[in-house]
Amino acid sequence: MVTRLYTHPIFLEHITPPGHPERPDRLRAIERVLDDEAFAGLDRAEAPEGDEATILYAHPQEFVERVRATIPDTGIARVDADTTASPKSWQAAVTAIGAANAAVDDVFRGNVANVFVAARPPGHHAEKTTSMGFCLFNTAAIAARYAQRQHQAERVAIVDWDVHHGNGTQDIFWDDPSVLYCSTHQMPLYPGTGAVSETGAGNIVNAPLAPQTGSEVFRDAFLSRILPALDNFVPDLIIISAGFDAHHRDPLAEINLTEDDFDWATGQLMQRAGRHSDNRLVSLLEGGYDLQGLAFSVAAHVGRLMKG
Ligand SMILES: [Zn+2]
Repeated sequence: MVTRLYTHPIFLEHITPPGHPERPDRLRAIERVLDDEAFAGLDRAEAPEGDEATILYAHPQEFVERVRATIPDTGIARVDADTTASPKSWQAAVTAIGAANAAVDDVFRGNVANVFVAARPPGHHAEKTTSMGFCLFNTAAIAARYAQRQHQAERVAIVDWDVHHGNGTQDIFWDDPSVLYCSTHQMPLYPGTGAVSETGAGNIVNAPLAPQTGSEVFRDAFLSRILPALDNFVPDLIIISAGFDAHHRDPLAEINLTEDDFDWATGQLMQRAGRHSDNRLVSLLEGGYDLQGLAFSVAAHVGRLMKG
């Protein structure tokens, strides 16, 4: 069985202002590194058109219409202090959702080993009724609910190793014990949430990391908090909110991981997916803003996914 990669040219057409860290070149860097012969065995697929109705799995209609209204005909519109929309942003965001949902279909049908979705805009900061932090809609949250509604998954775990806390995912599942949300993230850092004391309905596991910590502290957070929570929860599906901005080269944070740490964490989650979830594992790109750090980290992550 193969690892599938979903991409789509529309993801390059979500345009952000000059100098913005969340830029199309991120995906070009990923494309380039995955062009290597080592990845010839990837099952490359074009992301399908997304179904707008599935946005409502995680966001109310009134909010969806508010986001739609911010999409400009030309130029770039500001959505919040650091989140913007260009004319093709709606289509990009909906296609990212389509890819994530298709990845869920793939792993439940059992026709691939696992899936990585290289899409933008990212999603984990988008709350029920607020687009923020470069994110319009919460793709991971929608995919989790999609698994529950379309594939009768009872319990879905989202593991978020982006260096920023996924406040949006936490917000959406705050009182929903059918979804486990686990996050490692730098604290203090944007968006300010993610304390250990934030536990929702007992389904939120935050493992904040102090600035300037690295591999050892990150792996300890996995071993002592994240992995035991997964073993206790017994998910039917594991979704990774795979941001790579905890890499030591990243300009937006001060955590010092290397690509080896992403390789290791991927292997740990694959092991848990094997133990609990019939190997069902879907990984969705979130952040990662140093092009070299991002490319090397994605290569390590996808390389591990392909090893099965
Ligand atoms: Zn991030």
